[in-house]
Amino acid sequence: MTTEPDPTTFADLGLRPELLAALDALGYEEPTPIQREAIGPMLAGQDVLGQAATGTGKTAAFALPLLHRLPPDRGRSGPFALVLVPTRELCMQVSEALHRYGKQIGARVLPIYGGQPIGRQLRELERGVDVVVATPGRAVDHLARGTMDLSGVAVVVLDEADEMLDMGFAEDHETILSGTPQGRQTLLFSATMPARINGIARRHLRDPVRIQVERDLPASGAPPLVRQTAYVVGRAHKAAALGRILDVESPTAAIVFCRTREQVDELTETMNGRGYRAEALHGGMNQEQRDRVMGRVRAATADLLVATDVAARGLDVEHLTHVVNYEVPSAPESYVHRIGRVGRAGREGVAITLAEPREHRMLKTIERVTGQRIKVEKVPTTADLQARRLELTRAALHEILLEDHLDDYRVVVETLSDDFDVMQVALAAVKLAHQAGGGTSGDDDIPEAALPRADRVEPAGTRPHREGGAPAGRKSRQPAAGRTRLYLALGRRDGVRPQDVVGAIAGETPLSGRDIGSIEITETFTLVEVPEEQASVVVDALNATRVKGRKPKARRDRDAPRR
Ligand code: AMP
Repeated sequence: MTTEPDPTTFADLGLRPELLAALDALGYEEPTPIQREAIGPMLAGQDVLGQAATGTGKTAAFALPLLHRLPPDRGRSGPFALVLVPTRELCMQVSEALHRYGKQIGARVLPIYGGQPIGRQLRELERGVDVVVATPGRAVDHLARGTMDLSGVAVVVLDEADEMLDMGFAEDHETILSGTPQGRQTLLFSATMPARINGIARRHLRDPVRIQVERDLPASGAPPLVRQTAYVVGRAHKAAALGRILDVESPTAAIVFCRTREQVDELTETMNGRGYRAEALHGGMNQEQRDRVMGRVRAATADLLVATDVAARGLDVEHLTHVVNYEVPSAPESYVHRIGRVGRAGREGVAITLAEPREHRMLKTIERVTGQRIKVEKVPTTADLQARRLELTRAALHEILLEDHLDDYRVVVETLSDDFDVMQVALAAVKLAHQAGGGTSGDDDIPEAALPRADRVEPAGTRPHREGGAPAGRKSRQPAAGRTRLYLALGRRDGVRPQDVVGAIAGETPLSGRDIGSIEITETFTLVEVPEEQASVVVDALNATRVKGRKPKARRDRDAPRR
């Protein structure tokens, strides 16, 4: 396992206050490894050769120092910095990033790419720009027309240099760089370092600082008991994909890592909207708020803890089974550090990573550095979910068959078997049980609507073991009048049966078995109804005892508690 990451802050790196304010507003809590290493030398004016793929935070690594060095009030001058990128998409992304970081500085950023009307580019260039982000082809066009003056360029960035070479831009590079001053600062970023990149570096960079995100890990890599899976998903579908994956995985407790505070808040809201009990934890919260969240997580009132690395540092959640990287972590060390939170003490843990298609390379880097395989799987389809629900129904039926208290129902089967084959009767009964458990064959493509909690976690397994007056199969209904529903963080996987719950309550409180209402036992938790006026007594009594050898962590049940 690794040591805690280096706690350098953006302020420690010496960036100007306007940039620090912009980063704070964006919810960036700390520099990524490449930023930590590259920003200092860049601010000092050194050339940098960085090996870093998308997802490492390389854009901010060059954008921030470049903006930091931008002189004020440049008027109608030509660009101070030129960023060359391989594609139009990257051109827009990098321009947007520069614009966001440089807003308070008043940085004028101009994207220049082929396919865009040249007239607007000409007007902007005429008015004066600070940073031009260009694809090489269009940059060469402007140079040939004499419409872009690179004589004042102080910083040149070659971003994704290996991609640019693959696309045949080598000659354009030479043309463009020869139009810039000798004394400029040159920064080159590339995911891979083939000989040709080294050639460019030798010709155009002066005594560069070499930075690599892919380094040997301090210790032996990821813990062996962690099952590691990745899903490649487009940004727009991530939340839905996460929901499906969680439905299939049914974690006891999961921590979901996001990069920024904003993303934490956004995802927490989205997941709550989808029926999960998610809690946010990030550096923008005060100690009291964090303590409250952690209290809810420890009491298993929350299923998901959505957090930034900084906020989650040092946290120890005992029952954590799943670590989810909602984005690929910015360095292998960070990945290993995150997934080391599960798979402890001989228990199996699961690490799930959602990667956008362009972050695919970072997964490979992590695999290489950790020496462990990350299995890329397809996001579960609605058919997979349905299969999983059927499996849960099957498991629930299997359990009932083993319990063998079925004589009350014999008359139903016997009368029906006068008219139907017993197999038909069984099929109808399974259908009824399955639908009661929340499984339907006609699910939408992506489950948008928030499902009630009990249906959600273990759809078919939430079948009530005892009826408490309410119609069978109606889950998450209101408790009966005068009753309160209690939540216990113990379920079938802990070996809990209805008689254990009744036994614990009747044994530890003045209540008798008759006072106890409906009991629902799912794989991971139990809901039990007790008389309202005795609820607190029961909670206290249960929490002072153990059920099946474990603390029940009882509390009043309430859906999706918010701060
Ligand atoms: P990049 O590797 O430059 O494509 O960046 C990947 C993503 O990380 C982008 O969405 C950035 O907004 C985000 N990012 C970059 N640096 C940080 C940071 N220090 N903290 C949080 N997010 C960051």
